[in-house]
Amino acid sequence: MNGGGVPGVLGLDAEELVSCVGCGLCLPHCPTYRVTGREAASPRGRIAAMRAVEDGDAPADDAFARMMLECVQCRGCEAACPSSVPFGHLVEGARAALQLRDGSGTTLAPPWWRRALDAVGYRLLLPRHRLLVAASWVLLVAQRLRLVPRRLGLPRLRVGTLRARLDLPTGGRPDAWLFTGCVMDAWSRDTHAAASRVMRATGARPARPGPGGDCCGALHLHAGRPDEARRLARRVVAAMPGDAPVVVDSAGCGAAMLDYGRLLGTAEAAAFARRVVDFSTWLAARGVPRVRRTGQRLLVSDPCQLRHVQRAAEAVRTVLAPAYELAEIDDDGLCCGAGGAYAAVQPELAGAVRDRKLAAIARAAGGDPDPLVVSANPGCTFHLAAAGVTVRHPAELLAAVLEETGADRA
Ligand code: SF4
Ligand code: SF4
Repeated sequence: MNGGGVPGVLGLDAEELVSCVGCGLCLPHCPTYRVTGREAASPRGRIAAMRAVEDGDAPADDAFARMMLECVQCRGCEAACPSSVPFGHLVEGARAALQLRDGSGTTLAPPWWRRALDAVGYRLLLPRHRLLVAASWVLLVAQRLRLVPRRLGLPRLRVGTLRARLDLPTGGRPDAWLFTGCVMDAWSRDTHAAASRVMRATGARPARPGPGGDCCGALHLHAGRPDEARRLARRVVAAMPGDAPVVVDSAGCGAAMLDYGRLLGTAEAAAFARRVVDFSTWLAARGVPRVRRTGQRLLVSDPCQLRHVQRAAEAVRTVLAPAYELAEIDDDGLCCGAGGAYAAVQPELAGAVRDRKLAAIARAAGGDPDPLVVSANPGCTFHLAAAGVTVRHPAELLAAVLEETGADRA
């Protein structure tokens, strides 16, 4: 083992690696371990493998790559770990090291078609919002022609969503920013429209980010592309100047943006990260506007990035309780298997993990064949909806029950 924090083959922090004492308390919280029962698919097994490769005791071969790529990066293990092992940083670092070997001739290099697809997705489409929206129209047509395999788990795009206008000023000096993102702004713009209505109903005057403030880099980090994530993060920081809170209605984007201080290593990025706040947390602090009580039953599904990473899942319950009857899902926040692009690149495991979540949803539904589920993350929503579950964002559920005060349309 490298001592004193000196990185080895993978460039990981040795202090972080040795902090795992192998107790195994994280195992029940790991979705890939739960569905496979394999130590190699557990956090403890993955850390042991990282140590062995880092120390040069084992090769960074296909088996090692598979162990890293099968991780959903849900960080359920991190939340459960008594030794505070920063598993998210470790697996991000290991995946970045594997990515650096891309094209190096090792057996770890992905095939050419995967590299081409990755380049189009991560380097061309995600950072260029207009291009992403144009590509989404192409995807919609392909879906209508049944050319897109269902196993990719992509949501069924709707003309109304792609055409939807978001009635928000761009840039300026708002009293709150609403971060709109890349994929979410193309595929779930209705959620932003609902969030904007609810924010206005509190008296806030939100704006969307200025030019360049779209993709936050979360998907790039997940995929082991930290340099691209850093470039995008710098643009996002520059696109929302001032002191106003940066309200984020995607749990995955929010988790990445809260970590910008570490990612960019600058005081400016750290100050920006302190302004980032999840939509429900912001609303709970500001005060929920007047809403109608519906009595409708809602099953609360916590996105991992909100529960395990941001540790901010409670606010969803606080803001929805005045209007809905909330029910819990009894799986202790186990991941649903969405995880960035995980559902597309690991469809079998993502499906098996989702099956456990579907069973937990069915138990919580108590015989209701079409329960209404709330989730604050678009990736989880897409993944569960692809299995036929009706899922809504907290902002949509609140916008639907706003009392007519007129403030939301001002
Ligand atoms: S990651 Fe934490 S909980 Fe899991 S085996 Fe290591 S020390 Fe124990
Ligand atoms: S991040 Fe999630 S999938 Fe990966 S090892 Fe931890 S609990 Fe398991």
